[in-house]
Amino acid sequence: MLVPAPSAEKITDASPNMVTVTLPDQSVKEFSQQVTALDVAADIGPGLAKAALAAEIDGQVVGVNTLLPADGRVEFRLLTKKDPEALALMRHSCAHVMARAVMRLFEGVQLAFGPTISGGFYYDFELEHSLSESDFAAIEKEMKRIIKENEPFERLEKSREESLALCRDLQQKLKVEHIDTGLAEHDTLSFYWQGEFIDLCRGPHVPSAGAIGKAFKLLSIAGAYWKGDASRPQLQRIYATAFFSKEELGTHLERIEEAKRRDHRVLGKQLNLFTISPLVGSGLILWQPKGAIVRSVLEDYIKQELRRRRYETVYTPNIGRVELYEISGHFPYYAESQFAPIEMGEGERYLLKPMNCPHHIMIYKSQPRSYRDLPVRLAEFGTVYRYEQSGELSGLTRVRGFTQDDAHIFCTDEQVGDEFRGCLEMTQDVLRALGMGNYRVRLGFRDRDSDKYVGDSQLWDRAEQALVEVCQSLGIEAEPETGEAAFYGPKADFVVTDCLGREWQLGTVQLDYNLPSPERFGLEYVGADNQPHQPVMIHRAPLGSMERFMGLLIEHFAGAFPLWLAPEQVRVLTVSEKSEDYGRQVEQQLREAGLRVEGDYRAEKLGAKIRDAQLELIPYMAVVGPKDSENRTVSLRDRIDGDLGAMTAAEAMARLQQEIDAKQVRQVASVDNAGLTDRGSQNEY
Ligand SMILES: [Zn+2]
Ligand SMILES: [Zn+2]
Repeated sequence: MLVPAPSAEKITDASPNMVTVTLPDQSVKEFSQQVTALDVAADIGPGLAKAALAAEIDGQVVGVNTLLPADGRVEFRLLTKKDPEALALMRHSCAHVMARAVMRLFEGVQLAFGPTISGGFYYDFELEHSLSESDFAAIEKEMKRIIKENEPFERLEKSREESLALCRDLQQKLKVEHIDTGLAEHDTLSFYWQGEFIDLCRGPHVPSAGAIGKAFKLLSIAGAYWKGDASRPQLQRIYATAFFSKEELGTHLERIEEAKRRDHRVLGKQLNLFTISPLVGSGLILWQPKGAIVRSVLEDYIKQELRRRRYETVYTPNIGRVELYEISGHFPYYAESQFAPIEMGEGERYLLKPMNCPHHIMIYKSQPRSYRDLPVRLAEFGTVYRYEQSGELSGLTRVRGFTQDDAHIFCTDEQVGDEFRGCLEMTQDVLRALGMGNYRVRLGFRDRDSDKYVGDSQLWDRAEQALVEVCQSLGIEAEPETGEAAFYGPKADFVVTDCLGREWQLGTVQLDYNLPSPERFGLEYVGADNQPHQPVMIHRAPLGSMERFMGLLIEHFAGAFPLWLAPEQVRVLTVSEKSEDYGRQVEQQLREAGLRVEGDYRAEKLGAKIRDAQLELIPYMAVVGPKDSENRTVSLRDRIDGDLGAMTAAEAMARLQQEIDAKQVRQVASVDNAGLTDRGSQNEY
């Protein structure tokens, strides 16, 4: 049936309104009828309409076919390939295409989730066929075909009931379950539709599949659980990535190879740093002598910083009575992530220490405290135990027993700002000394609408304010994140970017108004007014866990530790057996000077000995031949710069000592990661 076109008058009558669009350059456009983002782009210029991948209307990223409001004012920006937001959008669109290809190739595919993540995206599937990397070529080929067809991503909005019916029709039982449970609050839901493929999704996407281009690649397969629930059947996850250019994709793939080369689990084995024995237990680290050296040098350095900052060292046991953790709230609050209590009969129960705090609190409580004693700073390299799921365990980074460079500060309300500053400064100094200057600080603040937090609301406000101010005054890039606080207080987490552009969450500083409260441990000090007051507690650990931090260090330095941390700092190499006596003298001399030195006196060619030392990443070699023993010299060889020429042993030692004292970090290969440090986006429900 033909619908008669409305007359000109009618349009005017029906559209008395006007929308005013402000562009990023502050220029203004006005439209008297309702327009889409694409119409606005076309109005600016046909080139832009072609390049537009999405738009931002009043700060919200939307698809190009989204209608602007009929009247009023909006801030408007078009997103093209050049905008970082567009990359995440394109990758998510590519996830749809990947899912579509998988459904074309295999029977009975159940779709789970397909979000973008830092560096790419994944999609989780449930299907009979066991996916392997040998399927990648076929999936990629099908994806290319879909991209070439260039069909649009079309949005459909449906009511809850219609959405459920549609997902049932499509036999997508996981989506049905998700609408019923995870999305129970939503009255309407959106789907994106492309050819025969339709997926429940919040969007937005690029206008059509062609915008994805050719620079995508499937990377790996992993097992995953639906919503992380290990009691459900395992899903199959395909990790993939996409870029707007082949060059960027190439750089990214090189970076992945580099990350594999630096994997601390591989290097840890090669360099004899640590081992894990199934008989001892998964996630329990056994430090080899070489790894133990690096760790103890690091600990000595931290201890020196602690003394300088007037911390006091304490030692506490690895277990404590369950009652202690009932008072602290760690039991049963965190029972799921703890080893089960040790039952000794007659109601006596112990827990493996999940946290050091309660022990330190009892040290504080062991004697009366006056305001003159505060702040009290108690430090301990305290080992704690958490029961991580076995699927979550990984090398040094996810373990079941780890040592925190922990400390607890007990101070007055007025001292919070200064103490917090001290904690942040120490973390900054330590990271700088380790050549990790690239970090940001995430401030975890409470969600004011939630009731999961304990403590007085005014004290929270004051603490959050102090965190922001101290970060500002130290020039630290800090981002407050609502709802990310611990239940007992706001916190600041250091997030370090390593030389491959990957982020690691490390040191943390947490304020605590809960544990000292009368409902918990009832801590007190006598104030200047002779009255009892409640101290504030600060939990802080600059490196976090020594295990996890070592994992980061190994990967950051690709196993080639700076001289001050290297397990073996210098190796004496003899040119022939004739120099062995002199070589042993030199070795002894270096050892007495405090250097970590070994000698290689094998009857091998010098070239082979040098190659071995290079492979073992020994920073320096002291080569001795007949001439050296005559002149009482060594030929010093640098792992990075090669031969440094002959010098006396004393000169060589002075040179090394200088580098050690300066904690010099001479080489951290940095991979160009422009545009690769994105943190993913949330397009899914
Ligand atoms: Zn989507
Ligand atoms: Zn603590």
